[in-house]
Amino acid sequence: MRILQVSLVLLLSCAGAPRALHTAPPGVEKHVEGLDFTKAGDEAVEVLRGYLRLDTINPPGNETIGAEYLKAELAKDGIESQVHEFAPGRGSLIARLKASKPSGEKPLCLLSHIDTVPAETELWPKEQGPLSGALVDGMIWGRGALDMKGMGTLELQVFRWLSRKNVPLHRDVILLAVADEEVGEGGMKLVTGPLWDELQCSHVINEGGMGIRGLFTENQTAFAISVGEKGILWLRVTAEGEAGHGSTPTDNRAPMRLVAAMEKLAARQAKPRIQPAMYELMRRVGEKNGGFTGFVMQHPSLVDTFAMKKLLGKPTTRAGVTDTCQITGFEGKGSAPNVIPSQTAAIMDCRLLPGTTPKAMQEELEALVKDLPGIKFEVLQAFEAAVSETDDAFFDALARHAVEGRDDAVAGPVISPGYTDSILARAKGARAYGFVPFDITPEELATFHGRDERVSVKNVHRGLEILYRAVVDVAAVP
Ligand SMILES: [Zn+2]
Repeated sequence: MRILQVSLVLLLSCAGAPRALHTAPPGVEKHVEGLDFTKAGDEAVEVLRGYLRLDTINPPGNETIGAEYLKAELAKDGIESQVHEFAPGRGSLIARLKASKPSGEKPLCLLSHIDTVPAETELWPKEQGPLSGALVDGMIWGRGALDMKGMGTLELQVFRWLSRKNVPLHRDVILLAVADEEVGEGGMKLVTGPLWDELQCSHVINEGGMGIRGLFTENQTAFAISVGEKGILWLRVTAEGEAGHGSTPTDNRAPMRLVAAMEKLAARQAKPRIQPAMYELMRRVGEKNGGFTGFVMQHPSLVDTFAMKKLLGKPTTRAGVTDTCQITGFEGKGSAPNVIPSQTAAIMDCRLLPGTTPKAMQEELEALVKDLPGIKFEVLQAFEAAVSETDDAFFDALARHAVEGRDDAVAGPVISPGYTDSILARAKGARAYGFVPFDITPEELATFHGRDERVSVKNVHRGLEILYRAVVDVAAVP
């Protein structure tokens, strides 16, 4: 008993005190007064439905039609914008609201991508197809509803309402709707390349996190704000050996060497490592929920001891606490069933937590197969994880408004297992937050890239209010 007490004290002493949160400047609230979010939300729904009807499936993209659509919407409010193409038909839109009383703070940028992933039209419900923009039973259907024309529409509407209400700004607010996020980041490369000098965003909001119902606790929504993204290491692992005839197997054939190497690589034991962002999200959930589980969640060392098994049990949370490596395909084959090729290869997709460099991961993998002859590693793509500061007024504003007036919601930071255009903004020194302020069920989340992608009217209404309030807090003059 005594031993337990001592170890508990030691464990608890590791828990850090939560930081002081940034609050909205007094007086800024008046810029929200008089805005009817139900009416504004209804307009957003119609804009989104029109946007979903445009085919910007990538490949090929054709984002210019989407950019021109947004441009025409802005023009109705007399707001100028420019469309920049990185290739014919591959346009990105930029519009800017200038600060009337500049504080010296750099622009706040509202980023979305215009392109969507492909959709197998024949698998969708007939009347609610991927390019239908159909509104049925309070749900808006179409490819991009969640990823991410829905958010792009919210950003457009926030932007035009700032203009309509003549909200005085102390920093520029920039609307960025870019091409080609889903394939080659062509639009964002243009934005963070030749166009960046004019933009200089210090803060970017983009996709990455959402509110998920029941993520930790039933009947509670956890709004996950992505503050960072895992790095990647894409590898070709090639096995070489003696070519020959399939009728006379030997030990030095490339395919068998590859199988042996893959067996060793697949058996790699990843060491779990919880990121500060995840400790912070759990602390917030624990603080909200109380009880024994809540107590455990508020103390990092207790989380390590008691919660790690659960975190490692689900693919989604496991990806959040480990460096993962997945074999995603094979290359190279003999010219006939009876021909053994001299070379064959596997492709691997590794995702790296902050703190693991691509080089370190490659060395770890190479060490696992060092006893096998004829195995070579080739890097196809590699970049390190990047994380934005959470001690930030915009981060706090997003978290605050997401849960405002709700007992059944909590908001906190996460590191996304996948990457988005935010990596390019972070590389330019911007703080990027991935947060689509929708409150969705796991079933709705499953429609992301699925054959039934949709978002509720209620989410469009509420999301618009969350985003508008957060932007006003950090960009408006009180
Ligand atoms: Zn997306």
